[in-house]
Amino acid sequence: MNTLVDTYGRIHRNLRVSLTDRCNLRCTYCMPNDFAAWLPSEHQLTTDELVRVIEIAVSEGINEVRLTGGEPLLRPDIVEIVARINGISNPPKLSMTTNGLALAKLAQPLVDAGLSRINISLDTLDRERFKKLTFRDRINDVFAGIDAARTAGLKPLKINSVLMRGVNDDESIALLRWALKENLNLRFIEQMPLDAGGAWSRDQMITADEIYAQLSSEFTLTPVEDRGSSPAEEFYIDGGPAVVGIIGSVTRPFCGDCDRVRLTSDGQIRACLFSMTETDMRAILRSNDLTPDQKRESLVKAFHSTIKAKLPGHGINDPSFIQPTRPMSAIGG
Ligand code: SAM
Ligand code: SF4
Repeated sequence: MNTLVDTYGRIHRNLRVSLTDRCNLRCTYCMPNDFAAWLPSEHQLTTDELVRVIEIAVSEGINEVRLTGGEPLLRPDIVEIVARINGISNPPKLSMTTNGLALAKLAQPLVDAGLSRINISLDTLDRERFKKLTFRDRINDVFAGIDAARTAGLKPLKINSVLMRGVNDDESIALLRWALKENLNLRFIEQMPLDAGGAWSRDQMITADEIYAQLSSEFTLTPVEDRGSSPAEEFYIDGGPAVVGIIGSVTRPFCGDCDRVRLTSDGQIRACLFSMTETDMRAILRSNDLTPDQKRESLVKAFHSTIKAKLPGHGINDPSFIQPTRPMSAIGG
């Protein structure tokens, strides 16, 4: 079987696919309210191009695909994309990360097309705070989306939350109580330096240790063994079976076990969220000089060379760290 292996022996099984850099929210840690540096729409991969690249990734050993963005549900062809990925031979496990706004309408069609796992992002339970944090008054659409996902049978339902100092860092316990009541699997993610506004600050970020201490003041947390390549450290809550996850991307990097590679909506392969280089799959897909077989060969080679060049770690904690120019919304979280 083919494998995408880097020079540190890490085998890559997990492809994150950004379907668009556009979004209907403006979460401050991801995209400023006045953001205007959109990728040219003609650069966005078509449905056929996307499926082609995913098919090739699967032939080279990828067995998990997560659709993300930007907001993946803004793609008008989202249901078709899910159905076509499920139709490739040896289909990968398919999941999605979404802000949930359009799930009330799309959860059932997505499940019918073969989606089985979903993460929904929600950082606060308070309508006014949600407005402040996302610049849109749409928290009720998220709640409706969560209900629709549950009704459509998406299980387990995971919720991603980012805590920010002075904004929502007093809400960790309320969020966890709510998640327990609603039977949702909550994961807290440390804020990473990937905002387009460059406002991230190490002194201000809420660390995994702080989140653990806050939750421990209310709940007994017992580590779940066998994390594998999962970015989340998981803990049983009050003896389980419910668990909470903490993703300490900055203070507890898990790069040594990373098995992820990323495809941006404009067809660039990135070995890491924080890569400073990309490999242009779009140019290969749209080349007029290559035969279909040559294109296939070039796309396979591009995957392997990108993985071979992967650095051992994200480097956020190195003095020489430079934030990538693409914001999170244009890479795919
Ligand atoms: N729009 C979808 C959503 O919000 O779920 C998918 C894309 S979003 C970029 C994917 C995840 O990345 C979300 O859970 C979001 O909270 C997280 N995220 C965005 N910017 C981040 C940052 N600077 N640090 C940590 N997580 C971030
Ligand atoms: Fe949009 Fe998701 Fe970024 Fe929020 S985190 S602005 S919902 S892409």
